[in-house]
Amino acid sequence: MLSRENVTREALSGLEAQRAANMMEEKRRRAEAEQKSPAVKELLACRQRLFFTGMRGAFASPEKAKEISGSMQKEMETINARLRAALVACGLPEDYLQPVYHCPLCRDTGYVGEPVHEQCSCLKRAVMNRLYQAEGLQGLERENFAAFDGRIFPDEPIEGKKSTQRGYMLKLRRRCEDYADAFAADEGKGLLLCGKTGLGKTFLMNCVAQRVLERGYSVVVISAYKLIEAMRRFQFGEEGMEQVQDMLSCDLLCIDDLGSEPMLRGVTVSSIYHIVNERRNANRAIVVTTNCSPQELYEKYDDRIAARLCDTGRMQIFEFIGVDVRRFAARM
Ligand SMILES: [Zn+2]
Repeated sequence: MLSRENVTREALSGLEAQRAANMMEEKRRRAEAEQKSPAVKELLACRQRLFFTGMRGAFASPEKAKEISGSMQKEMETINARLRAALVACGLPEDYLQPVYHCPLCRDTGYVGEPVHEQCSCLKRAVMNRLYQAEGLQGLERENFAAFDGRIFPDEPIEGKKSTQRGYMLKLRRRCEDYADAFAADEGKGLLLCGKTGLGKTFLMNCVAQRVLERGYSVVVISAYKLIEAMRRFQFGEEGMEQVQDMLSCDLLCIDDLGSEPMLRGVTVSSIYHIVNERRNANRAIVVTTNCSPQELYEKYDDRIAARLCDTGRMQIFEFIGVDVRRFAARM
């Protein structure tokens, strides 16, 4: 795993580059506006003169500084109002000369808060996504909706169903894509993808993760096996506190292959319950793939876990059926 310090440093230097780009963009906009409209040019010059005059006055007679800044502010407001009108008159948005930044919270500095200085959510998100792309999302660029190929599924009716496996999978793909496109943080809406191995569950989960990631949310993808490993390490005080925190706080947590993890007494069930329950209480979404049917989830874990995973008020349950595509592909 990459070190968090290095990734944070990288993200901060990315923000620094962003701020430099923002400044270039501000200059470019100003030049464009001045070129388009002599009135804008004149008002900008006027504003600058006023600013310097005011500063000089305040320096010269500090006892009047307050008064000067008061009257200056009024004049500034008048100029700014005329400036906004002049911008609109030449076909530009009225906020065109406002400072440019991507993150309105930290203005691309990565930090927020006074007096307590803390990392902005945009910085946390950038670090988390970079860390877990390196860790758990290998090949995620390849596993996306565009790469989803329905032809790998047999175009033959599924036993006891009207639709073919291919048609059925295309429908599930569409519903997963709809989910990813509509995803919003703190709504707590999740997916339970269940069915036997080789039916494309993990692939579709990775597609969802990739799309949600592209849309700017923080996503952690982790196998149930690794999740239990991390929780065990944390529980026995070795380390892993940050990883557990990430699993609890990311916008979307994707747990792959629930049911394949080792059943460690006093660890597995309580860990899964803890994660699932904490996220539910905070309205944070999970996507889970599992070989278990909903019925089997009730048998394997306790009711509290199964009930949360199968709660159709919050979870869409997609059942994957048909023949193992890896065997089907081998036949072709
Ligand atoms: Zn920010």
